[in-house]
Amino acid sequence: MNIYKHNNHAGNHADTLKHLCLIYFLKSIKKPYNSISYIDTHAGNGLYKLDDNYIKKNEEYQNGISKLLIVKTKDPYIRFYIKTINNINQSSKIKFYPGSPKIVQHLTNKKDELYFFELIENEYKSLQKNFSKYSNIKIIKNDGFDFFKSIKINKEKNGVILIDPVYKNKDDYLKVINLVKNYHIQFENKIVIIWYPVLDRIETNNFIDEFKRTGIQNILRIEMPIQNDNSEKDMTGSGLIIINSHKKTAQSIRGTIIELQSILQFKDNKKKVIVNNLK
Ligand code: SAM
Repeated sequence: MNIYKHNNHAGNHADTLKHLCLIYFLKSIKKPYNSISYIDTHAGNGLYKLDDNYIKKNEEYQNGISKLLIVKTKDPYIRFYIKTINNINQSSKIKFYPGSPKIVQHLTNKKDELYFFELIENEYKSLQKNFSKYSNIKIIKNDGFDFFKSIKINKEKNGVILIDPVYKNKDDYLKVINLVKNYHIQFENKIVIIWYPVLDRIETNNFIDEFKRTGIQNILRIEMPIQNDNSEKDMTGSGLIIINSHKKTAQSIRGTIIELQSILQFKDNKKKVIVNNLK
């Protein structure tokens, strides 16, 4: 069986979009609240060595974080994201690309409750190794789509939930929608961030339509194509669905996503970013 390993993709354009936005929302919720909760339903191992054999195979990070590290940008959110990656590496020359668990651990403190779900044995073991010294972090080897069965969600507590499945199995689209439809009332105090790939335009449109049909009022869509749609089924871009963000988020983050796209897109790309509230 061909098992997904995030190592192959660490630091690519989709990771940069996801992690830049994750940091944006995490900071927005850390500022007003003393203690937050964070749930990563599909955590990965948390820290990816850039000279790892898997990563070296495709070097996807070369069209992601590597480009950002050499660019001069005035955008404060992109600058903060780069600073975070450099700080984790303790250098401006990076050896590691941090996954979502490492980024969140780095930007939070002991008062915050962090839950990392990872189902695949090897990734889970590495995750445990990378974070065992933090008493505020719980690492759980269960299906992330069922996270509410493994941990008691404090409805009142503010926080962030990152839902970041693989989508190799097409059931993942349905599982995301069902999770949101059935449980969003319990997540009212949490910003829910759902990552999705753009592989096939019809599949993506259907996925977005499903969110519209949930009737949830506050849904933001951020999508960053880096190349024109094509029928090759490669990932031409990626997006995020964000539930419960501040109403003015689209306004404040649009320029950043446009800037990120201008750094990472292919020369002939004609597809524009989408930063819209779904109705
Ligand atoms: N969130 C990570 C980040 O941004 O750095 C990347 C996660 S990667 C896209 C998805 C991870 O989910 C993989 O490590 C995979 O082994 C794991 N996984 C796959 N199915 C899962 C499931 N049902 N529950 C929990 N983890 C799962």
